[in-house]
Amino acid sequence: MRLFHSFRSRRAVHAAAVALLGVATIAAWMLFGGHGSSSYAAGSPVASTDGSFDGPKAFEHLEQLCAIGPRPSGSPGMAKQQQLLITHFRKLGAQIAYQKFRVRHPVDGSWVPMTNILVRWRPQSPTRVLLCAHYDTLPFPMEDRENPRGVFVGANDNASGVAVLMELGRHLASQKSGVGVDFVFLDGEEFRFRDGDRFFLGSEYFARAYLKNKPQPPYRWGVLLDMVGDKDLQLYQERNSLWWPDTRPLVADLWAIAARLGVDAFIAKPKHEVDDDHVVLHNIGKIPCIDVIDFDYPEWHTQRDVPSQCSAESLGKVGRVILEWLKTVQ
Ligand SMILES: [Zn+2]
Repeated sequence: MRLFHSFRSRRAVHAAAVALLGVATIAAWMLFGGHGSSSYAAGSPVASTDGSFDGPKAFEHLEQLCAIGPRPSGSPGMAKQQQLLITHFRKLGAQIAYQKFRVRHPVDGSWVPMTNILVRWRPQSPTRVLLCAHYDTLPFPMEDRENPRGVFVGANDNASGVAVLMELGRHLASQKSGVGVDFVFLDGEEFRFRDGDRFFLGSEYFARAYLKNKPQPPYRWGVLLDMVGDKDLQLYQERNSLWWPDTRPLVADLWAIAARLGVDAFIAKPKHEVDDDHVVLHNIGKIPCIDVIDFDYPEWHTQRDVPSQCSAESLGKVGRVILEWLKTVQ
């Protein structure tokens, strides 16, 4: 993701771009269509010992993901990460589906396989919300002054969002009733090598598939988690999320819940306008989706985005607020 203002012109173009740029479907998933590859995994759900979100556990997941190394779209690291996530959510008894597509590599033109992974909880619940996180990492630390071709493991961007969902899964597995929740792990958020390469391939694919086969009722809300692990966590309200009339109430709700819980990392003021997956999900998919993001992170897109810049406490704060919010969704 990037700050929005420098990309204003791109907003209009990218809406039409996926179809034109050689995205081919090699296997569609069938959650929005009705038949196909989704499946229940057997296995007994692992219940959380108490009702609270376990920040240290989420941080272990973040470390586990970073230990794989770089995880850009189509890479061996991405394949390992997919295995890790699938194993994790299968053990918890979730329903898992895949949305596979491929995209031309922006530099050499080769086909690159991409996969969005969808993890469903309480599939019978008619009221559903979407929680999303991109799980690809930027191929190189483009903003690193010393070594822009160095190693980028994306601890905050975005192992943090993935790790929160991994821990959240333990709670959803143990609580059978309540709002239906779909996690989507989005691929190709930043499969970028140069300025001008496109963002948001996975969310755009997801949004178009969703629009084409819209479930009834559609998602009540969506929340995108991106860069939520900074040890100095400051979650201002993202400006698009606050401005769109259909998402404004969700921003108000989430920050009010944080205030009630005493989580002061949620700061109830706007700051950055961020171009991120939520813009695509909102504008193309018509999903009322907000971005929970801490864009005040000096290590952004550098080699220094490593686990020691993140903390269990920060992941715990976000997890607690989301978990509490889920209880209130009608
Ligand atoms: Zn990024």
